[in-house]
Amino acid sequence: MTFQEIKEKEETYLMHTYGRFPIALDRGQGATLFDTEGKQYIDLTSGIGVNSLGHNNETLVSALTEQAGRLMHACNLYYTEPMVRVAEKLVKATGMGKVFFANSGAEANEGMIKLARKYSFDHYGEGRNKIITLKQSFHGRTVTTLKATGQEKFHQYFFPFTEGFDYAAANDIEDMKKKVDDSVCAVMIELIQGEGGVLPLDKDFVAETAELCRGKDILLLVDEVQTGIGRTGSLFCYEQYRIQPDIVSIAKGLGGGVPIGAVLASEKCADVLGAGTHGTTFGGNPLCCAAADAVLSTVCQPEFLESVCRKGEYLKKGILSIGSGKIREVRGMGLMLGIVVDPDERAGFVSALMEKGVLVLTAGTDAIRLLPPLVISQEEMDKALAVMKEVF
Ligand SMILES: *Cc1c(COP(=O)(O)O)cnc(C)c1O
Repeated sequence: MTFQEIKEKEETYLMHTYGRFPIALDRGQGATLFDTEGKQYIDLTSGIGVNSLGHNNETLVSALTEQAGRLMHACNLYYTEPMVRVAEKLVKATGMGKVFFANSGAEANEGMIKLARKYSFDHYGEGRNKIITLKQSFHGRTVTTLKATGQEKFHQYFFPFTEGFDYAAANDIEDMKKKVDDSVCAVMIELIQGEGGVLPLDKDFVAETAELCRGKDILLLVDEVQTGIGRTGSLFCYEQYRIQPDIVSIAKGLGGGVPIGAVLASEKCADVLGAGTHGTTFGGNPLCCAAADAVLSTVCQPEFLESVCRKGEYLKKGILSIGSGKIREVRGMGLMLGIVVDPDERAGFVSALMEKGVLVLTAGTDAIRLLPPLVISQEEMDKALAVMKEVF
């Protein structure tokens, strides 16, 4: 189909929940994408942090192809090998206790919230169930994770929302202390607020929050859906904050393109969700786990993680050295970067970049967000930087 045909069918047959850019993507190779008209783009989006190994990655495609021909799905009433391989890799790489597999970030967060509330119920009984999240956070689109999201604009239309959430100001430990009362069972944070604007939390605030939680047996939940799986230059972002969370949620980059999420629980919380308390049909299916296994085999290697740090630094330096007065700041870690610009000019920059062959995302009110595939090449980075120089 041509772009026009695809666009017309989309308008007729799909619910209009997204504002789409006027191109239809057709295929990709590495960090390069091609649209249906044959135009080429450097991909600085990874489909919002998903295609961690880029497009048409040989290791990933062969793992998926092999598994698709063997067994794509089996229900969770039976054992399958790929899920245990991935779980073992995640546990051994993190020192966490056990894993539950879900299918998306929001679902992983739902699992994390359920786990935290049951932990508290088991130890302290009813009434201690509130979860403190941060203002400007984003945790998903289900009725519960919308309420967990600390932005008013997400608390519309779908009433009644799940009760038991309150919001502390990011990087304000006094506000956090005020909010953490006897009704609180957990604090849930993103270490770099992704959708909120690529806003890294202060290290001191995170350390003090972790300390505060530990003292009251309040669980520290870290949403690494966007920051996890090598994105920031370490397998998990929490490693760079030198904290040990009680529960971690992941998704996006884990499957390299197929939908998979997971909840990682520390030893203390590993056995809270027993038989019959939680489940999902697709969770941990062999196809998605074969993909996650291939992604982790690559991303867990120290040289790979070092390359992410190096590329992140290179891009950040390259962007700053453009020396354009239009660029106010570059925020972020590893290959999760936000170029801060005038909010009124942002949409124009994004269009101009696309026009000249570079795809980017936005976040918050003022950031152009970059989440390139972790395998982006030197040549692809240089091409993108040359276009940015022109545009800014
Ligand atoms: C994307 C995202 C989610 C939601 O993930 P879905 O797979 O879209 O449900 C949750 N938390 C964070 C931090 C995210 O970036």
